[in-house]
Amino acid sequence: MTSNALPFLPFALPEIGEEEIAEVVDTLRSGWLTTGPKTKRFEDDFAAFLGQPGLHCMAVNSATAGLHLALEALGIGPGDEVITTTHTFTSTAEVVRYLGADVVLVDIDPATLCIDPKLVEAAITPRTKAIVPVHYGGRAADMAAILGIALAHGLKVVEDAAHALPATCGGQLVGTLGSDTTVFSFYANKTITTGEGGMVVTRDASLAKRIRTMRLHGMSRDAFDRFTAKVPSWYYEIVAPGFKYNLTDIASALGIHQLRRARAFQQRRSEIAAAYGEALHGLPLTPPPEAAGADLHAWHLYVVRLTDEAPIERDAFIESLYASGIGCSVHYIPLHQQPYWRDRYGLSASQFPHSQRAYERLVSLPIYTRMTRADVLRVAAAARVALSV
Ligand SMILES: *Cc1c(COP(=O)(O)O)cnc(C)c1O
Repeated sequence: MTSNALPFLPFALPEIGEEEIAEVVDTLRSGWLTTGPKTKRFEDDFAAFLGQPGLHCMAVNSATAGLHLALEALGIGPGDEVITTTHTFTSTAEVVRYLGADVVLVDIDPATLCIDPKLVEAAITPRTKAIVPVHYGGRAADMAAILGIALAHGLKVVEDAAHALPATCGGQLVGTLGSDTTVFSFYANKTITTGEGGMVVTRDASLAKRIRTMRLHGMSRDAFDRFTAKVPSWYYEIVAPGFKYNLTDIASALGIHQLRRARAFQQRRSEIAAAYGEALHGLPLTPPPEAAGADLHAWHLYVVRLTDEAPIERDAFIESLYASGIGCSVHYIPLHQQPYWRDRYGLSASQFPHSQRAYERLVSLPIYTRMTRADVLRVAAAARVALSV
């Protein structure tokens, strides 16, 4: 490497400040490491952030765990079908299989890269129990259409909002849209992070009760209440074979401060997206789908697609950027291409032409709050070089 080579520009980086560090240290010194007062505070703060009265917010150790708990609480089980998008991470679908139910994958709308509501409706069978839309990249799915279909057919809706904090749909924050459950992720590269973590949100008190019980071994302290006024601190009952999905106070210490910065982070990400829009203008790249109307885009991802005019293929484009010291990614290798999903359901690419086409042409460019304008221009310059073969 020559001495004037620029440092590698990663695809994603978290932004952890002194407040997060101090809060983690405070937790470590407090003597209470696992789920406790900081997690309670994080949940309360999260409910306040969403701002809709009556929401139950439950911290969990991943969004995958949260999606599993949500579907379990809704009673999804063997013989049931759950409809979701093929254009997602395997988490969205694997949780359906944990419960012994079947996944029905459908294609995306190429204009939004989110699940196509028309195809959801066409995929409904007498076995269908739920729809799991994904707010791809931080752009909300067409929730009005999806909730309308769910209502008409008596289906449950669990939003995979792993990319969508904060995003809006019809002016309402994702998490307050009226689905049965919404699940956010705080994985290391998401819009806010606790290292690993997630939040399950519901308005339904009975779902909340089941999720709270199942996230910690199926343990309940409610039964004792029936006989005495006061539950002794040592008493619990096991009402189901639950899971170990609780979030630690160490993680929640990070989350409390990350959440406070979520609006500023979104603002910074949207500035980066706007800078990319200008800097990449004129190149044979389709820009990412914008949010509908005046809605907020969380900009978890900045996904471009090579047009037919691009002189090179997607893989060569990524290699060229990499040679310029820039990290990229591909979101996603669609589920219908993955051996497990393909073989289990006998899927082929021709059933999902829009997702397949997007997959073959798309690249996720670096986007994170600590990126500078100079970083954006550097990526754009490297893209220009790659595409001027
Ligand atoms: C990251 C992600 C998940 C899983 O989140 P974890 O917190 O890592 O379990 C689920 N769905 C989508 C679309 C994701 O990007």
